[in-house]
Amino acid sequence: MSLKGRIHSFESCGTVDGPGIRFIVFFQGCLMRCLYCHNRDTWDLHEGKEVTVEELMADTVSYRHFMNASGGGVTASGGEAILQAEFVRDWFRACQQQGINTCLDTNGFVRRYDPVIDELLDSTDLVMLDLKQMNDEIHQKLVGVSNQRTLEFARYLAKRQQRTWIRYVVVPGWSDDDHSVHLLGEFTQRMANIEKIELLPYHELGKHKWTTMGEPYQLEQVKPPKPELLERIKTILSSYGHQVVY
Ligand code: SF4
Repeated sequence: MSLKGRIHSFESCGTVDGPGIRFIVFFQGCLMRCLYCHNRDTWDLHEGKEVTVEELMADTVSYRHFMNASGGGVTASGGEAILQAEFVRDWFRACQQQGINTCLDTNGFVRRYDPVIDELLDSTDLVMLDLKQMNDEIHQKLVGVSNQRTLEFARYLAKRQQRTWIRYVVVPGWSDDDHSVHLLGEFTQRMANIEKIELLPYHELGKHKWTTMGEPYQLEQVKPPKPELLERIKTILSSYGHQVVY
């Protein structure tokens, strides 16, 4: 019987989640609890729509022309795609057989020593890994879980020499202080697999989903970062030898 995946939604012409024009699938389910989550409705592992790899490929190949012409491909996002590692592995394998570039957008909150993760990474052309906060005490308050698994996953990607972009959400009052940014610079400094660090400015676009679900949005007082702040963080991270963009 064909393996089924649970997806929340997809976007056919995404331009911000990886290189080129991308077919982005938002997978259902996430074990983190980010206070700023813009996809609050993806958390529940049991919701969403079930699809087979064959069904998903029928949609995927219909966008192949746009993807290939722009140097794009597919991105598995979420929620957290890695929670459905077997399904994403099979989808990525099918994409690569069709010459379609694959990108895994992940928070790195992963079980250790799972061979399926290796198989998924073997069929992944680019990993986009969120490192949300290096200070674990703040991380736990901001994200609801420790950062230890994610940091271990980052080290593992470096060991595998897996092509990786790091993404850092700049949340005023939570991840914008110099010390936190220096910790990120130090941690990633010697990771030769990291091609760039993308700064993602905090935004309030997902707030309405919390409201719709009748849940309090705890970052009500937080406003998006100003350009000067992003520039300062870029300068700090660049001093560690990284290409930094936002
Ligand atoms: S990791 Fe992503 S989907 Fe999960 S809670 Fe955080 S922002 Fe939301």
